[in-house]
This record gives sequence, structure tokens and C-alpha cells, in this order.
Amino acid sequence: MRFFPLLLVACDPTPSPEGPPAAESTVRPDILLVTIDTLRADRVGAYGDPLARTPVLDGLAAQGVLFTEAHSVTPLTLPSHASLLTGLYPLHHGLRDNGGFRLAEGVPTLAEALAAGGYATGGFVSAYVLDGAWGLDRGFDEYRDPFHPQDLAAAPVFGEVSLPGAEVVNAALAWWKAPAHGDRPRFAWVHLYEPHTPWQEHPGWTGDPYRGEVAYADSLLQRLVDATDEGDLVVVTSDHGESLWDHGEREHGVLLGRSVTRVPWILRPPAGLPLCVCGGGRAPAWGASATQRPAGVDAALVLDPVPDAPKARSVLRMPVSGVDLAPTLADYAGVALPGVDGRSLRPLVEGQALSPVPVYAETWFPAFHHGWAALQMAQDETIRLEQGAFLTESAWTEDPAGRGSPRGGRHGAGLGAAVQRWRGQADPRPGPLSGDQAAALEALGYLSVVVAAGPDAPDPRDQVGLLAELHGAEALPPERAIPALLALVRAHPQMADARISLALKRAEMGDLAGALADNLTLLEQQPEHSTALGNAATLARGLQQPELTLKLAERLRRINPQDPRGYRLAAAVYVDRNDAVQVLEITRAGVAIAPDDPNLLYLLGLAEIESGDPLAGVQRMQEARKAGTQATDLDLWIGAGYQRGGQIDEARKAYDAAVRSMPGDPRPWAMAGWMLYKADRCADARPYLINVARRGARADPKVQEALQACSGR
Ligand SMILES: [Zn+2]
Repeated sequence: MRFFPLLLVACDPTPSPEGPPAAESTVRPDILLVTIDTLRADRVGAYGDPLARTPVLDGLAAQGVLFTEAHSVTPLTLPSHASLLTGLYPLHHGLRDNGGFRLAEGVPTLAEALAAGGYATGGFVSAYVLDGAWGLDRGFDEYRDPFHPQDLAAAPVFGEVSLPGAEVVNAALAWWKAPAHGDRPRFAWVHLYEPHTPWQEHPGWTGDPYRGEVAYADSLLQRLVDATDEGDLVVVTSDHGESLWDHGEREHGVLLGRSVTRVPWILRPPAGLPLCVCGGGRAPAWGASATQRPAGVDAALVLDPVPDAPKARSVLRMPVSGVDLAPTLADYAGVALPGVDGRSLRPLVEGQALSPVPVYAETWFPAFHHGWAALQMAQDETIRLEQGAFLTESAWTEDPAGRGSPRGGRHGAGLGAAVQRWRGQADPRPGPLSGDQAAALEALGYLSVVVAAGPDAPDPRDQVGLLAELHGAEALPPERAIPALLALVRAHPQMADARISLALKRAEMGDLAGALADNLTLLEQQPEHSTALGNAATLARGLQQPELTLKLAERLRRINPQDPRGYRLAAAVYVDRNDAVQVLEITRAGVAIAPDDPNLLYLLGLAEIESGDPLAGVQRMQEARKAGTQATDLDLWIGAGYQRGGQIDEARKAYDAAVRSMPGDPRPWAMAGWMLYKADRCADARPYLINVARRGARADPKVQEALQACSGR
């Protein structure tokens, strides 16, 4: 434990353009960063919510600083976290949606900078959208993302593949307390998914289900905070908020209102470093909420406006962005993170002035998923501007719902310039590419989804009613959902997600051919839609259409060589064809990019056992077991591998294990009996052969031969 005296300083009232340099840090503090997914600022007690039960967050705020106007860069988990962990806006880190996008190798990350600066680095994520496959693992000594392809197959929505927060906290604590770090300072990033839909019930909580999830996430935070001491830097923030029916959106992703961009940001600096005590500044008044909840939906959510009444040791009201997080942490750690779009807020925390800069946010989700316009937002200290197919602005003192009343020229040129600058000149749209360009973009893990929205695309703020229609239809049982979704895609053929849902409902009804046809229709519009590709390939394999499966799997691999699905599906087809050479080739390539994929490891093991490298195959099967394979015949194949490798006693042990793990299956008895007979070990073989015979395989000519031979000796 390290203790430092508190060093409280007053805030500097006069902004200076540069801001004085931050105080020299003499210690490199341990850093705990917690991102609570989908946490809306005004649902935290420290931000003024009287219905919140968030004592841990409130306690951190009471010891540190709270930013009232912290904004995420996009309401999408992967690109928002990429900004938090690189200090770059999406234009520069390249991730514009969940999945399909991968952080390019050349983009520097905070974790890399900290590791280079001598930090031990651990990342602990709760959702597949943050799997290391998307590139955020770079720079972490340990990155815990135990998601398996079979999880994906089991979940209809890939955004819902997640781990319980308690499990993630356990893993993070074990790492935090591990003696192996020695004298190195620690950086842990812990991601909790609880407030994300579906909202689960938690014991002891009744009423608002969203607030219940937030309260539960807060309780998980307790054990992490308990593991820190006063010398540590603790930061808690979120990747985006939740609309909760603001302007008609239930969750997040499509709209860009304050309820989704504004997130909590609470920082408890290491004791001994300066901490300003600021409570001043004008409280923003955003007026009435624009909540539009359909009748009878989510009735338990309490949507009354929450007063802006922050309670913290220090309240900072300057608008700040997710891109400021990485440079701030790097500053405290004393490591360089050059070339970022954000800036260190440490001077502000330490009572020095920083000149305000507009914050920027965007969402391409409406374009990628529904064929609508993308949205951009910029906000400074007085005005918020939202741009889509049309422009709105609202002042802090006016009703934010007063959209559609553009007051040309009222906002400073700074906001429009911020939108132009961070949006980028061109839409993230691959368009017709040369072979070389395509190869380069693929190497960067670029687009998996072609933007369908054209210049005349409707504005999501006008279309959001269709979302409620889509969600309503998705909630119906399949026989009623299918006609509703059909009507929706006929009227709005660009709504890709509606077509995906239609296909899922058909599959649920057993209409696999219809589901495949829906996915193929979508692929005609958007040939590189990775979800449609993966689903279509899986369905094609289920319908025993190997040529189509191979074609779709090949396209998946071409779009994102890091996506294991393309390898698994192609390998499965070659297994059906008994083509060990092809299985070997494709699973080797797959394991190279996904070394923990249990399905690929298993298939590679099979191929190695079948094609002359049986002991390598045994090793592969053991790796598949460690990775959590669901295959039940693992021991049988391990036995076969040892047998072919000439290790009779090891093979026998594996067959014995298979006897236990595959009860009722005669194969392990038969294979062990035959092997031992052929090895001239009749006494050992006899009990196995008798057991096979008892299991009804007496007629098998090999069993007969072995039984006769061995009973005679
Ligand atoms: Zn998220």
C-alpha cells in the first residue's frame, strides 16, 4: 500500500490557448480502467439520478472528478472502445461499425504505449464484439476473450454473445493480484456488459430494469475498486449511453441524441497528485425529454427526466470526448502517445485551464444496416449540432427536442468544421476497387458491409418509427413475425437487418431453404454483408449444398481473413468429402489466425491423424480439449492417433477414457481390442473384444477374427 497526502488546488478561471504543462509525475501509478457498456450518464447517482443505486460510482466521484459533458464518439461498442483505447476518432482508427472491421496493424494503441513504458497490461472483455479478433488486444500481455464460434452459432444476435460480469471481474482480480508482475506498474482494462440489452433481473431489485442492470454493474465494480489503493488511478466510463425511447429509439446505434453520446466519466487520481476542486460553471439545461415510448412497451422503465445535479469532489463541465481518455491515461503513466486526436485532460484535473474544443460523434449504423443516412454530431460549450439528411442544432438552454428548426449561422464555424474534419471526405464505402486496392483494404480488415445509403437516403430521425415496427415484429412468434417482416422488407428493401431477422424466423420455423434465399437476396444488394454471408454459408451446408457453401466461405475469408467462420465452414465441407489434404490446408490457415478455435483445432487434428502425422493430431486434439471443444469423440481420436503413431499403451489409455466418455458406443472397445490383437497381446485384447461382442458387434468380421484368434491362445 502506498499513501500520499492529498494536494488540492483551485481551478484556474482563465483559459489559455495552450494550457500549461502538467505537473511532473514522479510515480507511475497502477491504472484501473473500467468501461461499463451502455451506461447513460443520467442514470448514475453522482450525475443526479434520484432513482439510481450506484454507491460505488458515487463514492469514486466523491473522491475525484466527474465530467458532466463527456461524450462517446459513436454509439457502437467496438469503434467506441477503439477510440477510448487509441485516442483516435473512427476516421483515423478505421473502425466504423461492430464486426467486420479490424484495427489496422499500424494504428498505435494505449496498451502498446503502456507496455513499452514498462507496464504490465491486462484486458478483460465481456462481449464478443470486443474479441481480440477485431484487433483491440494489441499491446495487452493478457487479453481475456474466451469466446468460441459455437457461442456465435447459438446466439441469434452476435451483439448478445457475452460473459457474466462476475466471471470477468474474477479473472481481472486474479490478474491484478498476481505476483508475476513484480515491480511493474499495472494497467487493467475491465469491460462489463450488464446494462446492455437484454435487461436481466437481479435479486433484490424491482422496478426499472435498466436501472437494475446499472445497479448490478455498480455492485461488480466494488470488488475491483477494493483491490486498488490511494496511489492508483481509477477511471470509469462507458462506450455509449442508451436511448431509452428518446426520439423513439429503444436502445442505441441508430440515433445520435444526448442520451446515447453522453456518458459518465469519473476519474479518481492518484493521491499525492494535484486535484482541483471545482464545482462551478453553468449547469446545462436541456429542457424536456423527447421520450416517445409506444403504448404497452417497456412499461417498467421509468423515463421521467433526471435533474442535472452532479455530486463529486470536483465537477468539470467542459465538453470532453472518448478520444481524450487514452492521452489522459498516458499522461498519468508518463508514457508518450503521439499523433492522437484527443488530448490529455490531466491539466484540467489538476486545476489548470484548457481551451475548449468541440467534441465529435458519428454513427454509420443507420447506413450499414437500414440504408439510411449516417449521422454526425458536434458540440461545444453552448451549442449541439446534429447532421444527417438535414441539420439541427440546439442550445443548452433550449429544448433539445426542438429539431427541424435550423438557425443558420448561429453556431460558430467550429462545429461545422469539426463535423467536416472528423467525418472524413468520403463515405466509408469501398466502391469498385482495383485488385491491389482491394487486397490492401482486406489486409487492413476493412469493410465487411457495403454502405447501401445513397445521397438521397432518408434521415434516421424520420425513419425511427420503422425501427419500433422492426423490433415489434422480431418479438413475435415466427408464424406471425414472418408476414410482418415480409411486409417491412417489401416496403423498405434496403433494411438489411429486417431481412436478416426474416431469415432467422424462417429458420426457426424449419424453412431453411427460405432462410437461405433471404440471405442470398440480401447478398445481391450487399455482396459483402458478413452476417448474411456467414448465415448463408451455414444454411447452405445444412442443406447439403457443398459448392455454394464453399463459394460463400471463400468470400467470407476474402473479406476478413481474420474471421474463423470461413475456415470452419470450408473445412467441414472437405471433411464430408473425406478430402484430408484440403482439410489440412484450410484448418492450418484457420488455426494460424484463430489458435484457440476449438472447432478448427479438432478438424485439423482429424486431418493430421488421417494424413500421416498422427502424433501431431493427438496434440491438436488435446489443444481442442483445452479450448473447450464440444466434440464427444475426442478420446477415440486421440487413441487412434497414438495407435497410428505406434504408441500402443498410450492408445490403450485413450481408448479406456473413450469407453468412459462415450458410454454405449462400441467403437472404443472394438478399436482397442483389434489394436491389442494385432500387437500380439491377446490377453489384453480379450476383455475389450468380449465387451464389443456384448454390445452387439459380434457379426463384425474383424471382431470375429480377433475373438477366434485370441480365444484359441
Ligand atoms: Zn456498447
